[in-house]
Amino acid sequence: MGARETDLGGLLREVRDFAAGPLRDWGAEVERTGTVPVWMWRELGRRGYLRLCAPTSLGGRGLPLPDYLPLLEEFSTGHGSLRMIIHVVNGVWRPILTYGSGEQAESLIRPLLAGESAIAFALTEPGSGTGADIRTSARREGDVYVLHGEKHLITFGDIADHSLVIARLEGTTGATGTLALLVARDAPGLRLDPMPESMGLRGSDHARMYFEGCRVPVADRIGAEGQGLDVALHGFLYPSRISVGMSCVGLGRRALELAVARARERVTFGRPIGERQMIQALLAEAATDVEAARQLVLWAARRWEASPPAVAESAMAKLFALEALQRVTDRCLQVWGGIGYFRGQEIERIYRDARAQRFEEGTAEVQKATIARSLLG
Ligand SMILES: Cc1cc2nc3c(=O)[nH]c(=O)nc-3n(C[C@H](O)[C@H](O)[C@H](O)COP(=O)(O)OP(=O)(O)OC[C@H]3O[C@@H](n4cnc5c(N)ncnc54)[C@H](O)[C@@H]3O)c2cc1C
Repeated sequence: MGARETDLGGLLREVRDFAAGPLRDWGAEVERTGTVPVWMWRELGRRGYLRLCAPTSLGGRGLPLPDYLPLLEEFSTGHGSLRMIIHVVNGVWRPILTYGSGEQAESLIRPLLAGESAIAFALTEPGSGTGADIRTSARREGDVYVLHGEKHLITFGDIADHSLVIARLEGTTGATGTLALLVARDAPGLRLDPMPESMGLRGSDHARMYFEGCRVPVADRIGAEGQGLDVALHGFLYPSRISVGMSCVGLGRRALELAVARARERVTFGRPIGERQMIQALLAEAATDVEAARQLVLWAARRWEASPPAVAESAMAKLFALEALQRVTDRCLQVWGGIGYFRGQEIERIYRDARAQRFEEGTAEVQKATIARSLLG
């Protein structure tokens, strides 16, 4: 279905029903078992939820960011690991289409959108800063690059068919000399190690990647030598930060729904706690944060769509939304009282999942530095 043919209202109703129904049950299963079964990934693909943004020429629905985000808000009311799949797949095609060849786009993006293959995004390193400071090196030898270095915290790193690895040409420093390579999971010289279980996002796979003379065909480079950070930032991270902002809105909204329900039901000293002004203030502040974050994120999405890369706008949206989410989940857990702190309560899981947003695709500190740079030049 093409963007213009898509009945957006109908799609939003469909996704809302899915998120409030099957997705919540799937989330409970993921939380219980600690894994996301392959069938869930495939089913998201079968339902078309992994091809919402990609262009129609490659089998996507071609939704612009402002039309996609209300759908992502609904998905984000569910489990963090399932939201992560939808968020990553609906964005990771972008750097391949923008910077890769037509052949790379055809062969990689179609199976990705169908949920039949996965691509991880690998930038972060244990021994350097995230961005122009990366150290993983690539030396060209004929028609291959030979890689040395290490990445960690890479979502889907150990299960994805390919990783989009941001490295640098041996001997270079700073932003120049960076390059982006699609590295197959079975590339010679690549060793993968699963990360320990994380605080939240239970069921999400994260990996350490060791490049020990790893050989990658030059034909698998995305973009030109020197464009690695452009591929990462312009291709993926700038629009993705806006999507992470909406992920915060959806998760915060679900926390608020649970807190409102609890405030109505829980009776102390003869009255529902929702009748106490102090509880009402917590709810009112949380609701205001959710709405303010939603509007800022949608504004950034419109700005990005009209004139990308909207660097400062995407950073502002992510910064406000992730900090709002921390306030919202803290207040909503407070409304729940002590029982909300225990495993098995949805609010407890949301509180843990929310904390990951302060790291995903750039910390609050990095967003502030980006905004300040746009102010000061
Ligand atoms: C659940 C999860 C999933 C992730 N998935 C991926 C993934 O798929 N791919 C990927 O590449 N990465 C991934 N990451 C990594 C994530 O992007 C980084 O954790 C994040 O960018 C911060 O980098 P760091 O961990 O190296 O922190 P550090 O760089 O060690 O930073 C530590 C602290 O110092 C601050 N800081 C660092 N440098 C500066 C500076 N110059 N100025 C001011 N403050 C600074 C940071 O904001 C932070 O508060 C994931 C992380 C998590 C938690």
